[in-house]
Amino acid sequence: MFQAPRPIIHWFRRDLRLADNAGLLAAAAAGPVVPVFVWAPSEDGDWPPGAASRWWLHHSLASLAESLASRGVRLVVRRGGCADELVSVARETGAHAVHFERCYEPAALARDTEVERRLAAAGLVTRAFDGALLTDPAAVRTKAGRPFRVFTPFWRAAADSIRRDRPSEAPVAIAPASSAVRSLAISDLELLPRIDWAAGFSERWQPGEAGATRTLDALLGERVATYSERRDLPAVAGTSRLSPHLHFGEISVGAVWHVLSSTKKRRKASAAEAIDAYLRQLGWRDFAYHVLFNFPHTPVVALDPAMEWFPWVSDPTALRAWQRGQTGYPIVDAGMRELWGTGWMHNRVRMIVASFLVKDLLGDWRLGARWFWDTLVDADLANNTLGWQWAAGCGADAAPYFRVFNPVLQGQKFDAAGDYVRRWVPELAKLDSKWIHAPWLAPPLALLEAGVELGRTYPSPIVDHAEARQRALAALQEAKKGTSHSRRHRGKSVRGI
Ligand code: FAD
Repeated sequence: MFQAPRPIIHWFRRDLRLADNAGLLAAAAAGPVVPVFVWAPSEDGDWPPGAASRWWLHHSLASLAESLASRGVRLVVRRGGCADELVSVARETGAHAVHFERCYEPAALARDTEVERRLAAAGLVTRAFDGALLTDPAAVRTKAGRPFRVFTPFWRAAADSIRRDRPSEAPVAIAPASSAVRSLAISDLELLPRIDWAAGFSERWQPGEAGATRTLDALLGERVATYSERRDLPAVAGTSRLSPHLHFGEISVGAVWHVLSSTKKRRKASAAEAIDAYLRQLGWRDFAYHVLFNFPHTPVVALDPAMEWFPWVSDPTALRAWQRGQTGYPIVDAGMRELWGTGWMHNRVRMIVASFLVKDLLGDWRLGARWFWDTLVDADLANNTLGWQWAAGCGADAAPYFRVFNPVLQGQKFDAAGDYVRRWVPELAKLDSKWIHAPWLAPPLALLEAGVELGRTYPSPIVDHAEARQRALAALQEAKKGTSHSRRHRGKSVRGI
């Protein structure tokens, strides 16, 4: 007698898409599917999603639920321990297996091992699928069999072997399980901020798979052809802005790779070069995961052990001025305000503001990483950790600490006309481009005509960059010596914040 196949649970985590989702496709091909999302922030260790990520997640889940509903299945939303909830859904639906896409954060790896153990004990089969990365972080190795710490050799070893076929389409229809199953509403998860801080996010972003596809389409035209020239200019839309979509897996990195590599074959040499530059950035994402996977302590401990002796200075007033975009350095303030207003910041400016915190203010990089974690819609443990350790000179392939970004020169070079500063620091909007990156050098008449009163309408610089640079270099010498002074500060380290 014909027996209907038992359902399979597809456990959505950071693969919030239907297209090119191998686990979901395999489940749909086998029979009925129960799509499940479990909200379990306490299982993310020290890094539960921050406020901006939660905003994104709310909307992304809503979009996923709609896409699933249009194919005939309901997204089951649960809150609690992942293993408990999955076992409970399996009991309610008669499901016999659970599919999921692999995650690589240390807490996720530990959780998944435990979930697999618990599901096996409950008689359920688990199948983990690849899809989040282009390379296997455990497999790429130096000739000596060790993980890489420097990007270029990592990429040399990894890039040539990356092949991605045409991504699979989303299933047209998905068979539902026959029995009813309990589900919360997405709003029950209370992911949206209570204060109206994220109001500007909706203007900038469209979370979900459709938004991700639209963003990729926008990249494929002129934007990717000019990527090399414009990717460092924060005033223009010269980069893809795919980062939050990639973080939440609303588009697979393999699909992005495939589309761009195929486009490359049809383009002129200059455009092909720009596409290579873009693919290399995707390589940085894989490198960040490679580093996090192989050095799982790096979200809170410097990869370079010498930097653990660095005498970071705790100055809550300066930290707050940095967070709020009130440092008196226009490019820094513009970046921090873009972050607050949109949940995102241009990469060049991320480097500038990070350097300012760790070098001009001697602020611990972990404080910066925490602020980004809470405020970025693309907050990603691997990329954020690598970015901060890089900026602080203590990570893999790090910028040497003694190379201190000058925020005025950076502004003049990458925002020459001052358009970016004018957009985010409107109190300087009328200031001539000549002074816009260093208003304290402007003649009194130029300030008067622009309606700028330093210390009143816009802050005076909170530190003198030249002096701060010397102070940072002296601190580095101290760290190198591992002096007793540094040891005292080590006792007060912000590890675990
Ligand atoms: P594009 O230039 O279009 O690049 C395409 C994709 O490549 C990005 O979406 C991203 O997935 C990847 N990518 C690009 N640059 C990097 C990089 N340097 N490291 C790793 N991956 C990269 N990126 C995050 O996704 N999440 C973070 O939490 C994060 N924190 C950062 C913190 C600091 C201090 C710094 C300096 C960088 C950080 N980055 C982070 C990396 C980078 O700034 C962003 O990925 C990029 O700005 C996203 O914009 P985009 O999608 O337009 O990038």
